[in-house]
Amino acid sequence: MKLRLPRFTPAARIALGLISLIVTLLLLIDIALNLVPDQTDMQRKIRESTSERLAVQVTSLIQAQEWDTLRLTISEALSRDKEILSLAVRQTDGRIVVKAGDHHRHWVPPAEDKSTLTHVRVPIYAKHAHWGDVEISYVPVTPQTLREWLQTPLVALGLVIVPVGFLAFYLYMRRTLQYLDPTAAIPDRVRVAFDTLTEGVAVIDRSGRIMMYNKAFRQLHPYAAEDMMGKQLSRLPWLVGSVEAITLPWELAMQSLSNSNGHLFTITQPDQGQARIIVNAAPILDARGKLRGCMVTFYDVTQLHHANEKMRSTLAELEASREQVEKQNEELMRLATRDSLTGCLNRRAFFSAAEPLMNKLRQEARNLVCIMCDIDHFKNVNDTHGHQIGDQVIVSVARALNLHMRNGDLLCRYGGEEFCILLPGVPEESALEIAERLRAEIESRAGSSVRSVEGMRITASFGIASLKSGAEDLSELIELADFALYTSKRNGRNRVTVWSEDLGADSEATSQTGTATGSIA
Ligand code: GH3
Ligand code: MG
Ligand code: MG
Repeated sequence: MKLRLPRFTPAARIALGLISLIVTLLLLIDIALNLVPDQTDMQRKIRESTSERLAVQVTSLIQAQEWDTLRLTISEALSRDKEILSLAVRQTDGRIVVKAGDHHRHWVPPAEDKSTLTHVRVPIYAKHAHWGDVEISYVPVTPQTLREWLQTPLVALGLVIVPVGFLAFYLYMRRTLQYLDPTAAIPDRVRVAFDTLTEGVAVIDRSGRIMMYNKAFRQLHPYAAEDMMGKQLSRLPWLVGSVEAITLPWELAMQSLSNSNGHLFTITQPDQGQARIIVNAAPILDARGKLRGCMVTFYDVTQLHHANEKMRSTLAELEASREQVEKQNEELMRLATRDSLTGCLNRRAFFSAAEPLMNKLRQEARNLVCIMCDIDHFKNVNDTHGHQIGDQVIVSVARALNLHMRNGDLLCRYGGEEFCILLPGVPEESALEIAERLRAEIESRAGSSVRSVEGMRITASFGIASLKSGAEDLSELIELADFALYTSKRNGRNRVTVWSEDLGADSEATSQTGTATGSIA
């Protein structure tokens, strides 16, 4: 837990400073000019004269042999003088003639026969001979108790001057500072209005010291709730700790004499939560355009920031699910339009694409070639190798056909092992050549690409019809191609036949097995 020092008002702090200054000055002047008399010195003088006086009295009484009066004088001296603890008259042979007080306890013979401040010995002479001494024990001069110390002049003076002086200075400064404290000078209603602003506001002077701030500013951070008056705005660690900019917005505004807005600050709270603050700074200029300070506003956008982040993550989620939906749609589309075994167009998709294509080509007076393809003796493949290998052969033939398709061509799995191909814009003369290429491709690769069966030979027969041959619609075009295909079958398979009017009569327009020598009728 942070230790909090008591908070003094500026007036109290100044008063404390002043009184400390005065006490220090007094002590220095005392050292220099010795204003307060030295107590020890004074005491020595008093004790010297007291002792001398007593010795004179004692001497005369001894000479007069007035022992009773001597005893009385000694005990009176003890009771009269509070400084004396004990006294005695001792003869040179060490015998005590008269004593008062507990002399045995208090008397300590001074070294080298020299009297001290607390133990004084005064010699007595009778008939020019040393008769004896008067011994006096005094109370110690340095204070022995706290009370005695408090009563020493300097301490007593201090005890009076410090509190009285502090109080006087404090009251005076409090009154004086009212004129200097800008917040005190601001009328209450202005301050209240200032406090009702939801934005934090701080007004700083030219040197960056805080001259005024409102309630919302105090709420930016627990440290901001402390007295911020006169503090450097640029040196508040909780505010500028996370800022990387070299020049702070208010410094920028005061340098450029123009507003510096929209700086995002992150204030880390004691619970490690982060507040996002937009800081705007506007220079304050006087009537002559001279810089007087800067007004800095702090707009808390934490909630907005959180809302934005939430929205961003929602958008990202939406985007991800949109992509997923798109992918699923694509997949659905593929499933709906493609044959699942070969990936070729299914009949439905083929017809819905082929019909508009045919109409368009007809309008543009361009040709459309239809090629029908059927795998030869496919039943045998199934019967010999099983249905699964049969499927692999279909896939491999489809791949061989697809290899020669261009953009815009349509390849459809028309039946079990039957394919229909539409080549838009291909001239009649090129159709036989293309079909022959497809046939050769199947013959050379389709069988060998089924790896599980060694040396399998696969061939297919082809039939061609084109729009130029006079077909009225798509189904008629396919029918003509199909007719040509069955001509190829009839003529020995693994060949290409182009439909012609007299195809029924002879089969000359059929390419020879394994060659592309067929001619178009
Ligand atoms: P050809 O065309 O040369 O006259 O002889 P073919 O043996 O191919 O004759 P046909 O068209 O009568 O036989 C086709 C066979 O294809 C009949 C059927 O069992 C088989 N078939 C049809 N669809 C599939 C399929 O998807 N997979 C497999 N493995 N076989 C199929
Ligand atoms: Mg068939
Ligand atoms: Mg067949």
